[in-house]
This record gives sequence, structure tokens and C-alpha cells, in this order.
Amino acid sequence: MAQRKVRVRFAPSPTGALHIGGVRTALYNYLFAKQRGGDFLLRIEDTDSQRFVPGAEEYITESFRWLGIAFDEGVGVGGDYGPYRQSERKCIYREYVDRLLNAGLAYYAFDTPEELEDKRKETANFQYDASTRMQMRNSLTLPAEETKRLTANGEKYVVRIKIEPGEAIHVQDLIRGEVVINSSVLDDKVLFKAADQLPTYHLANIVDDHLMEITHVIRGEEWLPSAPLHVLLYRYFGWTDAMPQFAHLPLLLKPEGSGKLSKRDGDRLGFPVFPLEWKDPNTGEQSSGYRESGYLPEAVVNFLALSGWNPGDGREMMSTGEMIQLFNLEHCSKSGARFDYEKGKWFNHQYLVKKDNKELALLFLPVLEEHQTEAALDYVEKVVGLVKERVTFVKELWEQSSFFFIAPTGYDEKAVKKRWKGDSAAQLTELAEVLRAQVPFDAHSTEETVKAWIESKGYHLGNIMNAARLALVGESKGPHIFDITETIGKEETIKRIQQAITKLS
Ligand code: GLU
Repeated sequence: MAQRKVRVRFAPSPTGALHIGGVRTALYNYLFAKQRGGDFLLRIEDTDSQRFVPGAEEYITESFRWLGIAFDEGVGVGGDYGPYRQSERKCIYREYVDRLLNAGLAYYAFDTPEELEDKRKETANFQYDASTRMQMRNSLTLPAEETKRLTANGEKYVVRIKIEPGEAIHVQDLIRGEVVINSSVLDDKVLFKAADQLPTYHLANIVDDHLMEITHVIRGEEWLPSAPLHVLLYRYFGWTDAMPQFAHLPLLLKPEGSGKLSKRDGDRLGFPVFPLEWKDPNTGEQSSGYRESGYLPEAVVNFLALSGWNPGDGREMMSTGEMIQLFNLEHCSKSGARFDYEKGKWFNHQYLVKKDNKELALLFLPVLEEHQTEAALDYVEKVVGLVKERVTFVKELWEQSSFFFIAPTGYDEKAVKKRWKGDSAAQLTELAEVLRAQVPFDAHSTEETVKAWIESKGYHLGNIMNAARLALVGESKGPHIFDITETIGKEETIKRIQQAITKLS
């Protein structure tokens, strides 16, 4: 068979905010497709109207827009295999249901919810399958006439797949190797519901994988139990040659390492488990997002890529291009991947520092505005360059740099006690004169002049520098003192020194 073009899909159901594990699934699909020159699709699996949540689809597309993960095809993009929203493909599925029914590979079932409930009460671990189906109300047990009458009446029926027991079903998984499942453990899944004339996830997912010519199904390991059904239905429909290859990704685990990562872990330990903020329209419950918490999208992408995969050479910082080149499913861990959110912060710091100062300044402008502060962009650029090493998030730049924008209005008491000595006022008065005469005022020249003056006078370097810092910053923090003087400029430097002398003497 000729090599098919790689086509992968991300197929979320719009049932709420997209969990960060789902984002990782999409990312791995994206990296895999891009590496192989393939297509990456977004298909919305919304056939379960009971679980549909308004806004969830927009949330999904907005999340990937923010993260810079682009789909080649699908909802919001278009393409030759559409529509890509399953609720808009309603008329496509009926044909496949009928094919199975006509071939005796599926059957009508009329059991009411009450009847099924009674059965479950009566039989422990009841499963609708070869061992029980002949005791139920379906087209296998009812006379043909009765089935005809019931379906013609529009009776609320479902269509179930007929699974023959005792067969070993082989699933080839690129991460797990060969997984063999005995068909006896599978139940006769509902494929179609007459009530809303819609297929269930099981049928729609598989039919669409075929119609959209999907070559690889890369998804979370919670979907592994659905894989045998994929294999069976492809066979029932005669599509075995086009069977996609599977890769079931490891679960994201709690930071402590065992158990599935949940929203509660995030609440408990203070980190988001969703890409964007989300307010559940039904419960009103609010959840934090990576975007609103101040994460940079490229940091989130790099961090997620390494939560369950590694390039094998210890590399951590990788551009999307590098990840595309290096990604491979064989290097995905089989066991779960611990969600190390501290590592996520580390990545954010790295990407923030790496950012061009101008870009970072632009991100910082809204924060300045929040603090009713305005400044020229090149000034802000210079400031962020001086303090960015000290922060993890853009928001924190303010705490580290507010004194570049606002002169101290008071002085930290402890610092004053420790740093403002008996002779500080006199020495800083002299320092102000030295600075007044200093031309040019760049950090390097000023530092040379000031140090020479201190030496010639026999003053204590540390004492003067500490007192000057207190005057300029208001407390004992901040970058190199002469970087501060250069940035705020001569007039402002002298003004702040004089103000400290007045206020602290
Ligand atoms: N709709 C399923 C989900 O919500 C798709 C699973 C799959 O990728 O096959 O994840």
C-alpha cells in the first residue's frame, strides 16, 4: 500500500474547560503531524447533547490560538473533509448504522432505562453482551414482526454493536507495543440513539476517523479501552487496510506522583490545570488559567511537551521548531507523567529572561497602567532588562522595578536603622555634588568617578552605596546602583538623594 499522508486529529468533546492534559494531547498530535509534513485536524465531538456546555468550543479554539498551536483543518479553519463538528454530520452516520444492521453486526435494543436498571440490580456487574443479550428486549430476541412494528412506531430504540465473545483483539500501539484484549470483556456498546437520531461517541469517532483519513490516533490512555472497538468496527466496515495506528499517551499525574492530576490538586497547591480562565456556565464555578496567571504561551508549550516525553539527550529549553524535529512517540513514557508545576514556573522564568526587552516591555505596559504609571517604551525596555532575571511572571516586574517610575515616598524602617548612619547625610550631600559634576552619566563612568572620590576621601564604600540605594530605591533592593543612576538620570538621582537627606536627618 502506498504511504498515506499523515493525518492526525484532536477530537475534544465540548463538555467544559479543556484540561491541561488535553492540551498536551493536542500538542503531541501537532508535533507529530508537523514533523511528518502531515495534517493536524480539529474535530468537535458534540453528539452527546446532554453533556454539551455552551462556550466550551470557543474556549478550545481560543486556547490553541493563545498557545500558537495551529490546526490545518477543522472547526474554525475549514477543509475538504468537513463539516468538522459532529452535530453537523448527523445525516452521514445513519448509513453506517444501517450497514451494520443489514449485515447482522448490530441490532436494535428496546430496553427501557428502568429495565436496564432492574437488570443491574439483579445481576452484579451486569454487562450488555453475548452472555446477557438473549435475556433482553432486542431484535435478536423479539419476533421480526415485533421489531418492525416497534421501529416503525418510532419507539425509543438504540442500536448496539454485536460483539462475538472469545476473540483476541490485537491493538498495535506505538507507545505500548501490542495490546491484546479479549472481546469477551467488551460490551455491546450503543452506537446510535433513535431519541435524538444521533450516533454515540463510539460510532461517530470511528466513522469520522475513517472518512477524514486519519492515519494515527494519538490520545490519552483513558481511551485505550475504546481501541478494540475501533479495530472491530474498521473490520466490520471492511476498512482494515486503512486502520490508523494508535498511540495512547501516559496520564498526567499529581505533583506527588500518584493518581490522576485533577482540578482539586491545582486548587490545593495553587496552580492552574486549564490553559485559560473558565467560569462554568452551569455551576458558576471559577477556575484559573495559565494565561491569566501570567504564563507565557511558549513556556507552557515547552513545559507540556516535556511532561511525558523527552528528546533523550537531557535538553529542556526547546523552540517549537526543535520540538517538531525531535519529537517521537517511542520516547513517550508508558507510565504516567508526574505534573511538576514548579518546573512550569522554571520554564516561565527562562522564557521571560530570554525574551527580547522590547517585547517584554510591551507585555509590562498593561501592568504599569494598572499602577497608574506611564513611561516611554524605551525607558520601560531598559528597566525590564535590568530586573527580569529576578522574576518568574511579568506581573512581578512591578515589584522589582516600581522605583524606576516613582520616587520613594517613604523609607523602609529596618533598612534605615541599618543603613542610614550618623555621617550618611554629610556624605550623600558631597556625593550629590560629585554626581552634579559628572559627565557623561552612564553607569560605567559614574561608577569610576564615585569610587575614585570615595577612595580619595577614605570613606567606606559599602556605607555610601547602601545609603545611596536607600535614597534611590527606598529600601535595600534593586539592581546595580549605577545602572539605577544611569536609568533614572542625573536630575532624578540628585533629587532623590536630597530628598532622603531632608527626610532622614
Ligand atoms: N471525544 C473524545 C475526547 O473527548 C475523543 C477521544 C479520541 O481522541 O478518540 O477526548
